Amino acid sequence: MSAPLVEVRDLVKTFEVSAPWLNRVIEGKPRQFVHAVDGVSFDIMRGQTLALVGESGCGKSTVARLLVGLYAPTQGTVRFDGLDAHKVFASPAARALHRRMQMIFQDPFASLNPRWKVLDIVAEPLREHGLVQGRAAVESRVGELLQSVGLAPADAAKFPHQFSGGQRQRISIARALATQPEFLVCDEPTSALDVSVQAQVLNIMKDLQRERGLTYLFISHNLAVVRHVADAVGVMYLGRLVEVAPKAELFARPRHPYTRMLLDAIPDIRMSGRSRTPVQGEVPNPLNPPSGCSFHPRCPHANERCRSERPKQLALHGIRIACHAVEEGRI
Ligand code: SF4
Repeated sequence: MSAPLVEVRDLVKTFEVSAPWLNRVIEGKPRQFVHAVDGVSFDIMRGQTLALVGESGCGKSTVARLLVGLYAPTQGTVRFDGLDAHKVFASPAARALHRRMQMIFQDPFASLNPRWKVLDIVAEPLREHGLVQGRAAVESRVGELLQSVGLAPADAAKFPHQFSGGQRQRISIARALATQPEFLVCDEPTSALDVSVQAQVLNIMKDLQRERGLTYLFISHNLAVVRHVADAVGVMYLGRLVEVAPKAELFARPRHPYTRMLLDAIPDIRMSGRSRTPVQGEVPNPLNPPSGCSFHPRCPHANERCRSERPKQLALHGIRIACHAVEEGRI
């Protein structure tokens, strides 16, 4: 079996959220930190999609930004094709590594410069990395990229406001593909789109993956979308990965109580008679996370151990899970 393209180990990202120094001195308050990502480890195999899911504020978008070098980790490592990515990002070889990984953002309305023509938007990475020389060659390459996402080469002459939301996201994908990356980090790429166009964009992404052997990290809060695109799924809660499993296993036999809660909230389109249960409770304040298992205030299986001891991740039948009740055989 080939080595994973991406190996993340014990990744931690802490942000300081303290009040200004003078206020702290006057009010006698300590510095405050939030653990946005707290010891996350996972692998992504070449040509596959790992989806990270969880409610907003669980740290999944911070993981995405750590992977492409938009943030530096507080601790832990990201290895990309065997390279220590953050060491490379700090070296003259950073540009070559950035070329191999690109990011697609949630909001195509905000991520495309409204004053630029599509030609210049898609050509920007080509020019920045010196990949294509001469106007005719750039136009030809941009035309190919637009065609690869189902747009016409003539669309290069238009401005972003002349396109629908789904088309704008296709332009973002074309731009991301310009450097011929191997790895795409997709942060909620369809959640700003109408449901009717989400499937079109997801299908284009799947086709591109098949044709080009792309590897994806796909961030989403929507398990129905994840079911459509992922090979493996990681469930995050308050900065930690609580369950990582192959997609079929996770949807057929969710083990972690949080995974079960998220799955129970999905509408049952197969009309199997299962009743839909809305997600219970709220994510605690990450500035003051609960002791022990941070899910315990919302967990129907919590006991005394859960309130005091943080569960370690266990490997179990090909999945990884952090839950005392699963370890003890209570669920
Ligand atoms: Fe629930 Fe305890 Fe498992 Fe946390 S460790 S999910 S509180 S059973």
